[in-house]
Amino acid sequence: MAHQIPDDGTLLPLMEEFYTIQGEGYNTGKAAYFIRLGGCDVGCHWCDVKESWDAELHPLTPADQIVNNASVHPSKAVVVTGGEPLIYNLDYLTTQLHEKGIKTFIETSGAYPLSGDWDWICLSPKKFKAPIPHVAENAHELKVIVFNKSDFEWAEYHAKMVSPDCKLYLQPEWSKSKEMTPLIVDYVMNNPQWEISLQTHKYLNIP
Ligand code: SF4
Repeated sequence: MAHQIPDDGTLLPLMEEFYTIQGEGYNTGKAAYFIRLGGCDVGCHWCDVKESWDAELHPLTPADQIVNNASVHPSKAVVVTGGEPLIYNLDYLTTQLHEKGIKTFIETSGAYPLSGDWDWICLSPKKFKAPIPHVAENAHELKVIVFNKSDFEWAEYHAKMVSPDCKLYLQPEWSKSKEMTPLIVDYVMNNPQWEISLQTHKYLNIP
């Protein structure tokens, strides 16, 4: 039977939750509790969490339980990721996390309307479903995954959608990192408003 997901955000399809180190972007190197919600229809062909796509495979879990699990860890920061977490109403989850003094970070493609109260929004736009302008305007960080040479132009297009103080990152897609990293290095040296983001957790061999 299909999930009946209440739109008040009290139940969420939880794929996995784990305490680790944020490996990418502005918050690289910081300990955080990761909450991965199932469900995504963006369809990136290089997606490394395709098992997240079908929300039906992931148990509906009380947001209160997720918050309690997050709160026992020394770092008072969570990263909500997916899948595409903004498919769901995240107002309740973030309110409860903030009540426990936990900072809220999200990783999103921006393809769905913004819900939740976020201390840090990382927008990682995808070609297959464009970000909603409102999400882009509120992003603290724009992280563009570079899969081929044309992605630099695409990155600049999205840089025009975010606020002037949004941090800008270029990150090589993992399977293309050998080919793309030298191009990114060169690009950042010539366009220093951008910085490099690497998937350091993959080098560290942690989740
Ligand atoms: Fe995978 Fe994220 Fe793309 Fe969804 S948006 S297909 S989870 S990479």
